[in-house]
Amino acid sequence: MARMNNLMELFQLLDKSNCRKCNEKTCLAFAAAVFQRRKDITECPKLTPEIIARFSDADAASPHKTTEENRDEYLEGLKQEIAGIDLAAAAERSGGQFNGTRLTLKIMGKDFSVDRQGNLYADIHVNPWVAMPFLSYVLHGEGVTPSGNWVSFRELKEGAERYPLFKKRCEEAMKRVADTYPDLFDDLVHIFSGRQVAEQFAADISVVLAPLPKVPIMICYWRPEEGLASTLNVFFDDTADRNLDIGSLFSLGAGLTAMFEKLALRHGFPELASSR
Ligand code: SF4
Repeated sequence: MARMNNLMELFQLLDKSNCRKCNEKTCLAFAAAVFQRRKDITECPKLTPEIIARFSDADAASPHKTTEENRDEYLEGLKQEIAGIDLAAAAERSGGQFNGTRLTLKIMGKDFSVDRQGNLYADIHVNPWVAMPFLSYVLHGEGVTPSGNWVSFRELKEGAERYPLFKKRCEEAMKRVADTYPDLFDDLVHIFSGRQVAEQFAADISVVLAPLPKVPIMICYWRPEEGLASTLNVFFDDTADRNLDIGSLFSLGAGLTAMFEKLALRHGFPELASSR
């Protein structure tokens, strides 16, 4: 019995119509979902019985590949998809600029660009967990203007079911940085072009960041007091799941967390190196 060795092998077998009959936004997202064991290969009605029979016994995630390798393949697939879209139209929809060669978006105040071949250019180092949401946003975001209504990750479509680890992986890890590194919120404002806003939900500090032009996030932090532990929550605009798929929103949260940890490490808080 044949086995799938990588995500792109499955992607190549799909018809790439992005018809959404599998309830994923794209064929590439479906291929990733099969590898993450969230979907069964039979959920694409366009695959022939021969192909399904060929792969039905296969393990979802390749046992030979690491999470990073599967992630890098997914990123490569997104770059290939870029070659097939109208970058000028995508720039208009996504709130970016197109100069005839590259589409550029502001990611937390810094320029981040992609050309027609899917090559990425950035003023700052952006880790793959942020590069993936950037490309998904350009490719498939609806371009909906944010409403200003903040909701938790769990309240976004499929947030609670598909990514129950958001709290642990993002909010608790960010809280550890905030608890340890006292200048975090000042840095978010000065380095990442964040905006401190009037306290929301009775938090001690509320900062709004723009990791993508139409996907703002708000980080609220409650300091520890009188025997109570601190709390940190991340809020999304309630349109976020229309501008970015839920997997990319999770990836964005994980990417930002990793960036904040790195920042704290650079400022001499080595204890955060092993916090995840
Ligand atoms: S149903 Fe199949 S062809 Fe349609 S988007 Fe999903 S994977 Fe692609």
